[in-house]
Amino acid sequence: MDRQLTLMAVHAHPDDECLSTGGILARYSDEGIRTVLVTCTNGEQGDGPGGVKPGDPGHNDAEVAERRLAELRESVQHLGIDHLELLGYRDSGMDGWDTNKHPDAFANVPVDVAATRLGELIKQYRPQVVVTYDETGGSGYNHPDHVQAHRITVAAIEATGIPDKFYYTAIPRAAIKRMFEFMRTSGVDLGDFQPSDDFGTPDELVTTVVDVAPYVERKFKALQSHESQGENIFLLRMPEEAQHQAFATESFTRVVNRVTAPDHEDDLFAGLR
Ligand SMILES: [Zn+2]
Repeated sequence: MDRQLTLMAVHAHPDDECLSTGGILARYSDEGIRTVLVTCTNGEQGDGPGGVKPGDPGHNDAEVAERRLAELRESVQHLGIDHLELLGYRDSGMDGWDTNKHPDAFANVPVDVAATRLGELIKQYRPQVVVTYDETGGSGYNHPDHVQAHRITVAAIEATGIPDKFYYTAIPRAAIKRMFEFMRTSGVDLGDFQPSDDFGTPDELVTTVVDVAPYVERKFKALQSHESQGENIFLLRMPEEAQHQAFATESFTRVVNRVTAPDHEDDLFAGLR
């Protein structure tokens, strides 16, 4: 192999690295593959100290960003990520928030401007595999920063032509169904939360399922590092067995493939080693 195998994951906020890609980052790093996490925003619109919501008195954007970036560094350690790259854009907040209109919000940065910066990182690390969200920002999430992360990554991949394989994170509908079934039968109070039928990735779009069961604990620790956002991390409050079930595999949709790999694979690096 004349070049080092490298995985790059592109995420919107500090904490997004854990759920959909924490397992692959930890696993591939253990396998000696270089891992690079690109986090696009500083997460300013997350919760402040004591769960203070953005826009409420006592919420200080700069302090929240500083705290969240510190939490991100801790998470990166748990996951064994080799390189953390921060694009440093301003968090746009959830879809519909006033903060969406801030001229510096990541979602308002011209795609080619941010894509050029990401493209520079792709040229620097030359990853064979790049992972980010689908066009809905991840299985229908629709957070403006997640959609923007998708757009700039697609643009950077097209402009550089470097990665051999390009993936979107996926939450297979069948897995969501199984998990909610499991929680209901084990008597978990789900409140009024009910996943809609079109929540998640249609199963037929899932090409790649990676076993990360041995990394569930590290993934969990990484998630716990983002303590200030604990209230928003629904999975932290699930029963352990349901957590394990939700954490033990990570699924993806392959959208670019320039190597010989099976249509359904269990390794993002299939065909590359
Ligand atoms: Zn996010």
